[in-house]
Amino acid sequence: MSSTKPLKQKRRAPKANAKRSPSKFAASRNWLERELSGVRVVQAASLARIPWLVHGFSTRPGGASELNGQRVLNLSVTDWDARENVVENRTRFVAALVGANALVAKNGLAREMQLVALKQIHSDVVHAFAAPPKEACQGDASITHQQGLLLGVQTADCVPILLVDPKRRAVAAVHAGWRGTLARVVAKTVGQIQMRFGSKAADLLAAIGPSIGGCCYEVGTEVATQFTSQFTDAADYFDELRTGDEPNPLQWLNMMPPGHQPPPKNVLLDLRKANRAQLLAAGLRDANITVSDLCTACRRDLFFSYRKEGAATGRMLSAIGIAR
Ligand SMILES: [Zn+2]
Repeated sequence: MSSTKPLKQKRRAPKANAKRSPSKFAASRNWLERELSGVRVVQAASLARIPWLVHGFSTRPGGASELNGQRVLNLSVTDWDARENVVENRTRFVAALVGANALVAKNGLAREMQLVALKQIHSDVVHAFAAPPKEACQGDASITHQQGLLLGVQTADCVPILLVDPKRRAVAAVHAGWRGTLARVVAKTVGQIQMRFGSKAADLLAAIGPSIGGCCYEVGTEVATQFTSQFTDAADYFDELRTGDEPNPLQWLNMMPPGHQPPPKNVLLDLRKANRAQLLAAGLRDANITVSDLCTACRRDLFFSYRKEGAATGRMLSAIGIAR
């Protein structure tokens, strides 16, 4: 599995009085970090190589919104933020994504790229867009082979997944929380791309962006039970909260019922692992799946975390599109 590497410092001589550049948190063989006008985006190296593709995952710092005295790039309308801030942040984010692709930026190809976001409902609903909709559609994944549309999903812990078929020129954006993962939204999106655009799963590239990690995502055992009823390898996605007293970790998952000890109240769920497994099962090649190991809950300096901060936090956007 490909993943991000730990912090890496920029190799640039520090200038006197220059604003200290934050360390590159995402730079590795598999991930790139780009900055344009104070907006930092994360890109999968495999997708960044495609000359006609515009894509990226947003981060928290910078932007027109203010949260707890800090400037943040909130990309979704919330109670604590003004709509015009969100509009401005989205404009900057799209500009950063376009600017990250040297070829597209140079040719002005992406000037009219239009962001298409969804009214997300934690479902398995996939929309195919040939043109921007008049109003945001309810659903959690979108696909297109149309140029000029920038498909976006909003997250603050949930897993954002971007897909591209470099051969047939088709793209998809997927939002997968635990409900969407359980409903197999990413597998269904792959199915839709194949059905509508004639793509082969083995040709698809996937980027699983920053999301809450198995280190932080605590769920009740009723969630784990739902996963075990749906996925034969579900035990791989879960870990126990360690108290040091467990005689046999995860025993309750394998021996139900009847169990000799009561199951733990909560367990840790690794949603990235679960979604990666769905992509593999759908026919994607292991080497074509890039997974970020940046945890939104651990790295609140870089991302918004609904779990850690509650409703009064922002939203990231992950977007992908075909340049005109
Ligand atoms: Zn974490």
